[in-house]
Amino acid sequence: MPTAAHSSTAASSTGADSLHVACPHCDTLNRVPVARLGGGKCGRCGQPLFEGKPVALDGRRFAAHAERGDLPLLIDFWAEWCGPCRMMAPVFTQAAGQLEPQVRLAKVDTEAAPDLAARFGIRSIPSLVLVHHGREIARTAGAMPLPALVGWVRQSLGR
Ligand SMILES: [Zn+2]
Repeated sequence: MPTAAHSSTAASSTGADSLHVACPHCDTLNRVPVARLGGGKCGRCGQPLFEGKPVALDGRRFAAHAERGDLPLLIDFWAEWCGPCRMMAPVFTQAAGQLEPQVRLAKVDTEAAPDLAARFGIRSIPSLVLVHHGREIARTAGAMPLPALVGWVRQSLGR
């Protein structure tokens, strides 16, 4: 892995010319100019870096997106058996369409990745946790409508 991935810790959210964006397909960190953030393709696999939908993360893929990438990551902790989670799913996908490319949205299946659920102390689902550079910024529990969800994220990020 290139060591350049760790070079822009201080200037990531404001004023930086470029950001490190983890590819939603292969997890490669791509350096993307802020001005062209929404239109980039992955330098390794050639697929779009933003497609207006959440990326499903497990413990193996988590660090690239939540810790090494420069984008804030909004994580939906869910499970197949959870009715409110299934109701939340289309709202969360719509939120990705509104919040990308400033925020990456991710889904973590708490059954498939109990290690991540434990690490974040998830006690009820759905739980939404907003993370930047591996640090939790905000969280909320329970389903919510799209405008409230998007508003909560923007407010939490101070935008
Ligand atoms: Zn890729």
